[in-house]
Amino acid sequence: MTARVIDGKAFAATIRGKVAGHVARLKADHGITPGLAVVLVGEDPASQVYVRNKGKQTAEAGMASFEHRLDAGTSEADLLALVARLNADPTVHGILVQLPLPGHMNAELVINAIDPAKDVDGFHISNVGLLGTGQKAMVPCTPLGCLMLLRDLHGDLSGMEAVVIGRSNIVGKPMAQLLLGDSCTVTIAHSRTRDLPAVVRRADIVVAAVGRPEMVTGDWIRPGATVIDVGINRIETDGKTRLVGDVDYASAAKVAGAITPVPGGVGPMTIACLLANTVTAACRANRLPEPEGLTA
Ligand code: NDP
Repeated sequence: MTARVIDGKAFAATIRGKVAGHVARLKADHGITPGLAVVLVGEDPASQVYVRNKGKQTAEAGMASFEHRLDAGTSEADLLALVARLNADPTVHGILVQLPLPGHMNAELVINAIDPAKDVDGFHISNVGLLGTGQKAMVPCTPLGCLMLLRDLHGDLSGMEAVVIGRSNIVGKPMAQLLLGDSCTVTIAHSRTRDLPAVVRRADIVVAAVGRPEMVTGDWIRPGATVIDVGINRIETDGKTRLVGDVDYASAAKVAGAITPVPGGVGPMTIACLLANTVTAACRANRLPEPEGLTA
């Protein structure tokens, strides 16, 4: 068997198109321009790239993009003051503080200072609780993107066996909650899981969010299973740097029914879902119907 390749890049473009359409309607019918504020503290090179891409794609979708670049030496109090200003600004519907923050700042404190209704990353403790109790939440972007890919592929996920490898607050745990919300039977595996290959072999759906290059090999995959590879790892081969996932694509693609490549799978969905969350936040703030197909 050769797996169907799940084209996250193309699907993300579809999502961005839906977002742009909804933004245009919000402007024309209600005079509302959804706005996303992104805050970057310091000069981390990867974060600079992410922030630039987020700003570009936000503007391309017709939304207002507000970038706040702060010096690495900025005090926590000054960052909290900026967050408070953005919370109070009616033109800002989504706020994202780019992580990681410099070591002298308490990331949890800063994230929990964001108005939960504007927390488009879905990391605020209120949104974590809402998602965990099956209520309307702001959902973290990467797991939301994975869920959209899975729904697009399978339609109804009810009753499927899902194994999520990784239990981080930003990917593994919310991913498991979303799959549970769609009535999968969910197992969360982690570094202490015994006989991980045997656990993964049970799965109709495998989501790998580990951060270990090509750890999941084809012999772990049940024939026909769907494999969602969240991992982004840079490895050196022959003096060249290349991106690989947490799944050994070559061997897994021979067994799986469908698989996301790296790059071009889950990665592009993350920013698309950030834009989707910003439109959702703008609709909720104005008590308007939410866009179809852009929320969990
Ligand atoms: P974390 O490091 O926060 O979490 C990794 C998880 O993997 C932990 O729960 C850890 O278990 C588990 N783990 C580590 N080693 C093993 C092992 N040998 N066997 C089983 N489980 C193991 O990572 P993130 O969740 O933040 O990210 C995971 C990956 O996803 C990374 O490659 C990251 O770059 C990528 N990523 C991609 C995004 C995208 O847009 N596509 C967005 C966010 C992340 P334990 O808890 O026991 O330590």
